Amino acid sequence: MRAVNEDALLAYPPVFLVADGMGGHDAGDVASRLAVEEFAQLAGQPHATSDDVHACFTRTAERIREALDGRPCGTTVSGVAVAEHEGSSYWLVFNVGDSRVYRWVEGHLRQISVDHSVVQEMLDNGALDAEQARSHPERHVLTRALGSGASPEPDYWMIPAGPHDRVLVCSDGLTGELSDAAISEVLGLFADPQEAAQELVRLAVDAGGHDNVSTVVVDVATADAGDTHMTVPRAGAGLGPGAWDEMLDGATVPRARTREI
Ligand code: MN
Repeated sequence: MRAVNEDALLAYPPVFLVADGMGGHDAGDVASRLAVEEFAQLAGQPHATSDDVHACFTRTAERIREALDGRPCGTTVSGVAVAEHEGSSYWLVFNVGDSRVYRWVEGHLRQISVDHSVVQEMLDNGALDAEQARSHPERHVLTRALGSGASPEPDYWMIPAGPHDRVLVCSDGLTGELSDAAISEVLGLFADPQEAAQELVRLAVDAGGHDNVSTVVVDVATADAGDTHMTVPRAGAGLGPGAWDEMLDGATVPRARTREI
């Protein structure tokens, strides 16, 4: 139902992301495209470090400032980069705004990123439940974004990569239309990540398509033993949903938030 697509995405190893621009034509679409351009500079590296990713955030903010001086605009940026630590591969998850990163493993869908939104704050302090949040009038109001204002303040998570992982990165145009259960079902039905990504978008558009919809589905490709280019090693093998919950609890405590965008 939108005249302008302000979303942009990047799916090029080692980085996969969605950016949802805000500010209208010639602003929001520019902001999200600048994010993709800067993160695309990591393309082709075997893996990325948190410094690499943070530098992309910083450069994107500078370019948004230069290109759109004074105009109120910005973009969300959510995604994963393949990272390495002591010989093992990790998902380096990053987020600013309310696009999302989910991990789907053995039929279990789990949101990794934490939204920077007014509604998320209300959920956190118990003022709303999940059902009320879905229809709250302020559900699109962000508490953090990447824009012309303050310095970028992304959240990061380092997650050991497992051989059965499937990662979904999406804009709120998907999660605004489809429930987690519906998303999980599609991820289980389509073995091919391209088909899964397209089906998710198709269903969201069929459900109303009130917003731009962007999805990236990332699967782990296992490499032969001894392949020095292997991006996802065995370190995360056998990591079940239980182990995952334990690890996540300590890693996702949101930092103090600001309402300045
Ligand atoms: Mn959106």
